[in-house]
Amino acid sequence: MSDPLTPVLTKRWLSPNSWRLSTYEQLEGYTALRKALRGTPEQLVQLVKDSGLRGRGGAGFPAGVKWSFMPPNEDKPHYLVINADEGEPGTCKDIPLMMADPHSLIEGCIIAAYAMRSHHCFIYVRGEALHPYRRLNAAVREAYRAGYLGRDILGSGFDLDITVHAGAGAYICGEETALLDSLEGRRGQPRLKPPFPAAAGLYAAPTTVNNVETIASVPFIVNGGADWFRKMGREKSPGPKIYSISGHVEKPGQYEAPLGTTLRELLELCGGMKDGIPLKFWTPGGSSTPMFTAEHLDIPLDFEGAAEAGSMLGTTAVQVFNETVSVPWAVMKWTKFYEHESCGKCTPCREGTYWLAQILERMVEGRGTAEDIDTLLDVCDNILGRSFCALGDGAVSPITSGIKYFRDEFLALCESNKRELVGAQA
Ligand code: NAD
Repeated sequence: MSDPLTPVLTKRWLSPNSWRLSTYEQLEGYTALRKALRGTPEQLVQLVKDSGLRGRGGAGFPAGVKWSFMPPNEDKPHYLVINADEGEPGTCKDIPLMMADPHSLIEGCIIAAYAMRSHHCFIYVRGEALHPYRRLNAAVREAYRAGYLGRDILGSGFDLDITVHAGAGAYICGEETALLDSLEGRRGQPRLKPPFPAAAGLYAAPTTVNNVETIASVPFIVNGGADWFRKMGREKSPGPKIYSISGHVEKPGQYEAPLGTTLRELLELCGGMKDGIPLKFWTPGGSSTPMFTAEHLDIPLDFEGAAEAGSMLGTTAVQVFNETVSVPWAVMKWTKFYEHESCGKCTPCREGTYWLAQILERMVEGRGTAEDIDTLLDVCDNILGRSFCALGDGAVSPITSGIKYFRDEFLALCESNKRELVGAQA
């Protein structure tokens, strides 16, 4: 493992006016673009494949493989769409990246668009994220003025326009096909897959949807090479990653470290548990990823490590909870979020998240029974793998993992209710 304190993606974040083009150019900015434009699109796709870069939005699909799905001809327009609709609870990496270093994303977009023969790129920013939206727009204007965007970029003959688009603040619009519907001006709801976007995406044309952090990694790969990138992280999950750490730690924030870093190591970086109160549970990658406990401190946080231990890497949103937090209460809060954000398209998710929230709320209020635990698991079983998109699967993760590790806590809530009921009858 490389030194976790050697930053790559975040290396410019603390420079004065890091978001300005002049700062970016002083710190190697747009050198990767010049290099990329000297090669062919095929060479770039191969480079990204060789680097092993995997999608940083949560699912970890190999980025170069996804790029290779785009047709080589240009019978139809090709689109590159950047998913900047960061909305997973606890996730805060793309928004700081766009605030601190918007040109790394823009440079990545130009290189990726060139590799996929796309002449129009859309950056879909989460609706509530007004500041990154403004900052990106300002950076895009700077890039146009400097000749990095528009016609005949740097004399290469390649043309590209970037449109920064603000969503309206719906979690479902982070699902790539709902995002495409929203971008087309319709209500954001997921589409059936296949066809995947590369076959029929935006305006039914070949489209690649990539996450902000994925694309911002590309200029570094072009400059450093695939082997350099592979030296960081783990064999099947190479490269650096921004972990967003929140909750009961001394210094919450964004910490860059190679994939495969453990929570024990991350806690060292962020000053340890707040006030020394012991860890109780945590999520490796947002609330959609099954929770871990204090027994999982040494699990390598990469795609394989998290999965082998029964969870998922997700967005590397590490939410840390100490012993003062009630698991059923936290689970209830997350479930109410999913109930609110369910788009309503499919029955298991629409109805299931409603009933899960109802049951959990009454448990937390002391009106539950022990049978409610089995009912919760039964409803989860009827959502998992049966909903239209990943929102339903994500919604059950906190509940099933919470009950798996802390069943006694759920039972205790019901037992106290039983005692009160018996007391009232006596
Ligand atoms: P997915 O595995 O279905 O797809 C991942 C990507 O790979 C997509 O772009 C998809 O088009 C592509 N893909 C997968 N199989 C393909 C194939 N056979 N051919 C062509 N392309 C293919 O996952 P998903 O539903 O897109 O995303 C789920 C993840 O999103 C979860 O793991 C969760 O962690 C994450 N998530 C992130 C946020 C956030 O704020 N970043 C919010 C919610 C969920």
